[in-house]
Amino acid sequence: MLKRTGGCHCGKVKFSVEGEPTRVGLCHCTDCRQESGSAFTYFGVWPSEQFSSEGFTTDHDGRRFCPECGSRLFSVDEHEAEIKLGSLRDAPTGLVPTYELWIKRREPWLGPLEGAEQFDEDKT
Ligand SMILES: [Zn+2]
Ligand SMILES: [Zn+2]
Repeated sequence: MLKRTGGCHCGKVKFSVEGEPTRVGLCHCTDCRQESGSAFTYFGVWPSEQFSSEGFTTDHDGRRFCPECGSRLFSVDEHEAEIKLGSLRDAPTGLVPTYELWIKRREPWLGPLEGAEQFDEDKT
């Protein structure tokens, strides 16, 4: 099965995901902007049994990050692992978002991504 690996900027945290993600999206919401320090987040979701990680992480509201370098990494619960796709090792990842959330917060210089379903707020 295809395995993708990733980690934090300093290298103390590493993780991998197996197989294809169940979904890939972009989110422009205020929380995503603040926690990433960027205009939006690019994320992918895998079943949690297809995810594994090593190295110590700290979390805020379930969002795990490296306490050493501050890289935002993933959120995991018993069902799903949501990965910040910019933390994957190989770029570009080849993973194409199929939807965009909170487009009412999207910067006007960013157009809608062609073919991606558009949601004003969260997916209903
Ligand atoms: Zn780190
Ligand atoms: Zn968001």
